[in-house]
Amino acid sequence: MAAGKTGPIDATLIPGDGVGPEIVEGVKLVLDAMGSPFAWDVQLGGMAAVAAGQDQLPQATLDSIRRTRLALKGPLTTPIGGGFRSVNVRLREEFQLYANVRPVRTIIPGQRFENIDLVLFRENLEGFYVGFEHYIPVDGDPHAVAMASGVNSRIGVERVIRYAFEYAVKNKRKKITIVHKANVLKILSGLFLEVGQAIAKEYEGRIEVNDRIIDACAMLLVLDPWQFDVLVTSNMFGDILSDEMAGLVGGLGLAPGANIGKDAAIFEAVHGSAPDIAGKGIANPVSLLLAAGLMLEHVDRLDLATKLRAGIDAAIVQDNVRTRDMGGKASTMEFAQAIAKRV
Ligand code: NAD
Repeated sequence: MAAGKTGPIDATLIPGDGVGPEIVEGVKLVLDAMGSPFAWDVQLGGMAAVAAGQDQLPQATLDSIRRTRLALKGPLTTPIGGGFRSVNVRLREEFQLYANVRPVRTIIPGQRFENIDLVLFRENLEGFYVGFEHYIPVDGDPHAVAMASGVNSRIGVERVIRYAFEYAVKNKRKKITIVHKANVLKILSGLFLEVGQAIAKEYEGRIEVNDRIIDACAMLLVLDPWQFDVLVTSNMFGDILSDEMAGLVGGLGLAPGANIGKDAAIFEAVHGSAPDIAGKGIANPVSLLLAAGLMLEHVDRLDLATKLRAGIDAAIVQDNVRTRDMGGKASTMEFAQAIAKRV
């Protein structure tokens, strides 16, 4: 049965590696219980594609995403060394996915931090991540000096900050914190702050805005995270802060991520392929389920996204059905079935 307003929405599904196919089965079960809002085009990626004799990022997968403009992605294994480039980075570049959205929200009560509800926007294509790096050899030492350059462009900074402000307005968020290091990196990070402050003026009266230096921000997030609401920052700072923020709600297993571009959006579990538990049927599908929730929001099905999140909360908190990483005994599918009953 179609659950979309005009029937199921075409979307690419990449089960990925390790626990990926197991948690994807759990996600499918829950979404089917909600009336199957997406019509999946299942495609290979990562080592699963290599095992099938293809590139880690096959052309058919790229073509599918180009067609559907929407993808849900399980974790992909990136072998260390051996010339493999991260498929995640390749996807970001290929589809110019400029905004990385990482919401964190308390689900399990009684943890170190209660009632956390934050969203981080990370610039996804620029900063120090552009990877302009080289060595300068001195006196026969080929690695005597290592250099890296960072790049921020006005266009690149503007689009992610504007996306964060628009998200804040749409989702009735109150405050945005611009996170930077403009006191030291006066040009690279200074541009980020300058653009952020200019955009903030356009939203005066609608969104409260302040700015924080990255080091102080990292400290304040563990001292008093409730003073924050939405945070927007450059690539490297966002990489670090998003993991710190996942720690506030119990770790990466409960945190979803979205990579947003003009022509495509890719939603993912932020944890890896968990090779230590792969094939055992015990992985926690929540991260990928929450990513599916972000995908529902993205296609303007906030009703279904809200229902999905409420179902996850009810299964964990009221029914006390949990996978091992959350202190329970349920298998991936038992846990998914408990959520399916609630949605
Ligand atoms: P990992 O996230 O796979 O695992 C870290 C720990 O968390 C492990 O003990 C694992 O069992 C546990 N864990 C992860 N997901 C879980 C889940 N859903 N349920 C229960 N426990 C879970 O990190 P890693 O071991 O450093 O990386 C493994 C592989 O994944 C590497 O090849 C890495 O490159 C890749 N990776 C991919 C992504 C991605 O595709 N987005 C992200 C991170 C790492």
